Amino acid sequence: MNITAIYPGTFDPVTNGHIDIIARAAKLYHKVIVAVAVNNNKAPLFDIEQRVKLLEQVTIEFDNVDIIGFDNLLVDCAKQYDANVVLRGLRAISDFEYEFQLAGMNRRLSPELETMFLTPAEQYEFISSSMIKEIARLGGDVSEFVPNNVLQCLIEKFNRG
Ligand code: ADP
Repeated sequence: MNITAIYPGTFDPVTNGHIDIIARAAKLYHKVIVAVAVNNNKAPLFDIEQRVKLLEQVTIEFDNVDIIGFDNLLVDCAKQYDANVVLRGLRAISDFEYEFQLAGMNRRLSPELETMFLTPAEQYEFISSSMIKEIARLGGDVSEFVPNNVLQCLIEKFNRG
């Protein structure tokens, strides 16, 4: 069976942790759709077009990875792209409660859609987009944690003030 996985998130911005998960998924699944949520609840640092573009640039080497933006229900978006699996990254026990709830709710909404989890290499376990933004905003060095295109965008954003 050719399994298509949809990997949803805000990716504001994409980090080396996300890329680690995408690289692992690209080896496992026939196709991986990275679905960037528009996210109207909180104001993102980077708009949807920019988040999609940064992801496209860092996944160019993967032939079976596509990047899309979405602002509808995840289960509907999964159906639209014929995805059989929702993929999520798990960093720590602290992620578990929220992820467990999300997986349960998505199963209620769409019983045939399975949620699967991957963990990143241990050097990426503590990276989160929100922490990266906070460090960059305060002038800290985040070059270890994000790809170069993201680093340039962060520098540009915060140097402009
Ligand atoms: P959130 O859901 O907290 O807004 P994102 O949207 O940025 O996080 O991330 C999308 C997915 O990637 C989530 O499943 C999240 O747990 C996972 N993820 C985020 N950072 C990492 C990391 N450093 N390693 C592995 N998975 C991660």
